[in-house]
Amino acid sequence: MRQGFLIDMDGVIYRSNELIPGAQQFVSRLLALGIPFAFLTNNSQRTRRDVATKLRRMGIDVEEQHIFTCAMATARFLAQQKPGGTAFVIGEGGLLQALHHNGYSIVDHDPDYVVVGEGRSINFEMMEAAVRMIVGGAKLIATNLDPNCPTSQGLRPGCGATVAMLEAATGIKAFSVGKPSPVMMRSARKELGLATAETTMIGDTMETDILGGVQMGYRTILVLSGGTQREDLVRYAYRPDLVVDSIADLCQNGLLDGVPGAIVSKPPSTQSAYAQPPHPRRREVAFAVDALPATSRG
Ligand SMILES: [Mg+2]
Repeated sequence: MRQGFLIDMDGVIYRSNELIPGAQQFVSRLLALGIPFAFLTNNSQRTRRDVATKLRRMGIDVEEQHIFTCAMATARFLAQQKPGGTAFVIGEGGLLQALHHNGYSIVDHDPDYVVVGEGRSINFEMMEAAVRMIVGGAKLIATNLDPNCPTSQGLRPGCGATVAMLEAATGIKAFSVGKPSPVMMRSARKELGLATAETTMIGDTMETDILGGVQMGYRTILVLSGGTQREDLVRYAYRPDLVVDSIADLCQNGLLDGVPGAIVSKPPSTQSAYAQPPHPRRREVAFAVDALPATSRG
């Protein structure tokens, strides 16, 4: 059985603008072994191209198809729910582009949906307009419910904080698409052409990355290089399959040894970059997480 990875970015491969040691090596090995992977982000601000460029500038050699954002997941979900619909958007380029790309029109009155993402351009007039639209019947969609986001200066309010204000003002609950929603978790897996049992989620946040993976039946790996400490784990009713200090451990502990990533019967068109020549070490073996000592598990 082949394997593929869904990988959170902030706290897993970088913090602020600093790469976490081991990230480059891990991604290089995924590429060399032809193992499908996607970086999953709950930040709707940037397009996948912008995110890929940011990663390349940091030294992570990825293409657009390796990026999957909550803005993409939201736009695809809405296009399925109501093809050719309209949206009033509180958010920025990544979200606007994804909605346009999926056949949506951006309007400033009488929309089908009010769609909320991250952004620094939010003002009270937009919030007032959104409240009136929601009360008037527009559906409230959140790209994610993260309450805040880490920056080099400290925390800034996240999409979840904006959504909470709209929910409080209208008495209407938002539908959220980003991690840990099964909508985004499943959509990302399908984008890679993986089956549930072939999918591993790597993340630093229990409430989004790990919960999302657990709910979907994916393998989950928690890295302690971000917002979660080992002692925090006792507070949760669910646990990751594996806990490691950082992504560097995943290069060292043999996790990728023997993972038959590029054995694909019908590669999706988006996966051309994964079509690597067969790797001599690739063989049908149990996923290496199974072979790890029990003490490594969370
Ligand atoms: Mg993170």
